[in-house]
Amino acid sequence: SREVHLIARPVGEPAPTDFALVETTLADPGPGQVLVRNDWISVDPYMRGRMNDTKSYVAPYALGAPMDGGAVGTVIASGDDSVPVGASVLHALGWREHALLPAEAVRVVDTTAVPAGAYLNALGMIGLTAYAGLTEVAPVREGDVVFVSGAAGAVGSIAGQLARKLGASRVVGSAGGPEKKRRLVEEFGYDAAIDYREGDLEKQLAEVAPDGVDVYFDNVGGDHLRAAIAAMRDHGRIALCGAISQYNATGPVPGPDNLFLAVGKRLSLRGFIVGDHGHLMGEYVRRASGWLADGELRTEETVVDGIDNAVSAFLAMMRGANTGKMLVRLTG
Ligand code: NDP
Repeated sequence: SREVHLIARPVGEPAPTDFALVETTLADPGPGQVLVRNDWISVDPYMRGRMNDTKSYVAPYALGAPMDGGAVGTVIASGDDSVPVGASVLHALGWREHALLPAEAVRVVDTTAVPAGAYLNALGMIGLTAYAGLTEVAPVREGDVVFVSGAAGAVGSIAGQLARKLGASRVVGSAGGPEKKRRLVEEFGYDAAIDYREGDLEKQLAEVAPDGVDVYFDNVGGDHLRAAIAAMRDHGRIALCGAISQYNATGPVPGPDNLFLAVGKRLSLRGFIVGDHGHLMGEYVRRASGWLADGELRTEETVVDGIDNAVSAFLAMMRGANTGKMLVRLTG
């Protein structure tokens, strides 16, 4: 069985040589343990932060040890009656072909009604991030204009659609490249879209949101945050979800130089971590399951096959090769 180790701390953009695929031997589960064959593993932007040796809300990856992250797999041996062989389970030991872990560290999921990958996307932390951001962090109110950056990605493609369901009158998004810009409008329900690679974000945002923005869902930071602050209406709300434009930075990055506008406009800017909003999971999954079943919530996955391609899938996601959620499929 193979697993991906971090073997060097990346400086700037990670290189394939910062990682190693390592062969290990499988152990049988002891009492209370389960052995899982991972079918799907998740690669996510927050993992870039864990490759640095810095203090954060989640511990850094250790060097020379397997990385971890979200995964869905099938139990192939069990030392616990509550999680039988054959069960599909969601757990946190991704980046490897097999995971040996305590039965209480897995959640049995139903993969008959929805595909397994959904638990790493719309029915999991990704969807909850979008929902928490737009309900509790920067609540959308009836008639609001909502702007989402990283809009064609996993969180962003869901956030745009949820904004509309929560009452937004106009939803605009930003992504990289003409193809993503087209898909935002034609497939993910955005009213208008920006290709940030075309430059002058402030001008482009003014064109798609001429009356200003009430809620900004920030996945990108940097210039996007600056342009949003310039476009915000009075009493606007900004959910600081991520700042992917800065994750590979090797030194301090400039803050938005127009932050003082938050005073006169009475803006609120609030950072959040999805793990603090777990109390919304039941409510969110109930609503999202209905929307998925009715075809009212469209989700997308970009799939890469094989553990030997997991690192390149992560690197490609960081560069924007994905639309919707980037997943690595290990079986099937
Ligand atoms: P995505 O599926 O959105 O993948 C990352 C995307 O980032 C790429 O597809 C790329 O899209 C975009 N990107 C990369 N570099 C840049 C850049 N320089 N400028 C603008 N866009 C860039 O990932 P997720 O949906 O999983 O995550 C989106 C954001 O949400 C991240 O910032 C992440 O850290 C954050 N997050 C925060 C959570 C929280 O609890 N606060 C939980 C989950 C995610 P493009 O082609 O458009 O450039």
